[in-house]
Amino acid sequence: MRAKSAPLLSPLLFVLLLLALGCQAMTGAVCQAAPLKRSGSVKAPVTIRQLASPDLSPPARQSPRTPQPALPDRLHGLIRRVALPAGDRRLALTFDLCERSVHVTGYDAALVKALRQGNARATFFAGGKWMRSHPEATQSLMADERFELGNHSWTHANMAVMGGQKRVDQVLWTSAQAELLREELDARRVRAGKQPTTSQPTGPQPLTLFRLPYGRGGAEAVAAINGLGLAVVQWDVLGEGGGGSVAARARAIAEAVRPGSIVLLHANQVPKDTAAVVKALLPLLRQRGYATATVSELLAAGAPETVDDGYFSIPGDNRIYDDRFEDQGTGGLAIPGRGERAQGWPGRALAFETPTVGPGLSGGEFGTKDFGRVRTQGRRGAVSPDPPRLCRCLPAFKRKSQRVAPLAR
Ligand SMILES: [Zn+2]
Repeated sequence: MRAKSAPLLSPLLFVLLLLALGCQAMTGAVCQAAPLKRSGSVKAPVTIRQLASPDLSPPARQSPRTPQPALPDRLHGLIRRVALPAGDRRLALTFDLCERSVHVTGYDAALVKALRQGNARATFFAGGKWMRSHPEATQSLMADERFELGNHSWTHANMAVMGGQKRVDQVLWTSAQAELLREELDARRVRAGKQPTTSQPTGPQPLTLFRLPYGRGGAEAVAAINGLGLAVVQWDVLGEGGGGSVAARARAIAEAVRPGSIVLLHANQVPKDTAAVVKALLPLLRQRGYATATVSELLAAGAPETVDDGYFSIPGDNRIYDDRFEDQGTGGLAIPGRGERAQGWPGRALAFETPTVGPGLSGGEFGTKDFGRVRTQGRRGAVSPDPPRLCRCLPAFKRKSQRVAPLAR
């Protein structure tokens, strides 16, 4: 696929960005990012609450009680898409729900509504801390038979630089949190006198899918996660950005997918108008003969196609995240307080979407705003210039832009 040129930020988007980051400067403040105003778009406000200090507390249960079935051999490795039998034109829309230790990221209810209205099936990769911060939203997803939940680590850890028990905890704590919420949901159904059905069974449903935060992780990390019983699922289509109107971005996704594709999107942060894009995308997919499925349904129907290393669009395009969150992969202080020394990559607590579909970087993960220039193979994506106004009020942004060396193909 030919790399698309990265469009510069529109003036409106840039102003919104500055406003959002200004909010971030107020530790502990609630930052309400205004939705983009586009005709026909779904209003999907996203609230990101910056915490006064990183929340590193474990869940109430630190390991699931339900035994995790061993992962079948055929599902080992880092899965980017699924080769389906001829004539099967299903694909998987996947939505990450990322939350680091330093913030509470919110939930895009308009997006979920758009999926439900379009009767679309989808997989949500939820962070464990996100599930704890958003129990009702998590249970709403759990209760909808069209959706499945996957594991996105406890605090959005970079699994390429985190190992040992910390990495295991990131997985198990998240699975345990899901189990707790599932138990609550089941108990509520029992109290309401609801009987289990085929589409809404009760009882333990261990998470069996994992998505690497930032897409970071190679054979060693993937083997460790596979050993815990979870298949590692990435994507072959970066569903975010692309620039232009909602309609243009939806069209770009529809043109990029093929049967068995796994599309990466987010359900809680940037871009703010994912709901509108999805609403425009679903009829385009139907016109092209596609149907939506969960990732598990794809995996049951076809043969997973794997790669050796996780990446967004080009191997190595996500290595920039390795030194930004220290070994925790979760950030230290979001914004250094007075007299405090910056840790890891503080201050860059909000993600900014690098506007590409196809080759390029995605900042949609969890929240870092990628100011400055990022160079990837075959393409120089100018995300945005360093924002001088911001630098005067937010010292953490004075750090120099980080460059990524071009990769040898
Ligand atoms: Zn994420």
